[in-house]
Amino acid sequence: MKIQTFSVGPMRTNCYFLTADDGKSAAIVDPGDDADKIIEKVKQKELCVKFILLTHGHFDHTMALEGVRDALNVPVFIHEFDNELLLDGKKSMLNVFSNKTVVHRPAEKLLSDGDEIALGDEKIKVLHTPGHTKGSCCFVCGDFLITGDTLFDGAAGRYDFYGGDFSALICSIERIRDLEGDFKIYPGHGNSSYLSTERMNNPYMQY
Ligand SMILES: [Zn+2]
Repeated sequence: MKIQTFSVGPMRTNCYFLTADDGKSAAIVDPGDDADKIIEKVKQKELCVKFILLTHGHFDHTMALEGVRDALNVPVFIHEFDNELLLDGKKSMLNVFSNKTVVHRPAEKLLSDGDEIALGDEKIKVLHTPGHTKGSCCFVCGDFLITGDTLFDGAAGRYDFYGGDFSALICSIERIRDLEGDFKIYPGHGNSSYLSTERMNNPYMQY
């Protein structure tokens, strides 16, 4: 599997394109903004997008969701506990940061911990990692790990928004820390890192 990063919107959210080894089957993770740019890139690369994956339901990860899902006619996957954020601008923090109103349709598929999603001949494994939101997830794709706003390069996500929970976040980060082997980490904002580096340097892994 291959991964490409596009920084989108004013919060500089990392939108990821996952492409299977067949070079065509693709998934879009967190279309946070700039729907036109995302759709243009899909066309340029002649990708066959199969679904949209959301690490969680905060607005800065979903502002381009309706534009992209309609243009590409693809289903949306989110953890079952974060579907409510798609339907409520207060819970998604949209109405805290702006006076825009975006109404999302519910996701087509609700994810649970341990689910495996096929992309081409490969699998994406769902890790439910609550704490930043109730339904935050990380996605294991081969030797990389998409961490959303749960784990960043040298930091962790906020836990003071709706559904946030510090002790749940620390448990989730311990679970990530204790995964076997090393992974390249792709967070929801900022730089990528390696799990081996985070195990040594990330203060949230020292609890
Ligand atoms: Zn978030």
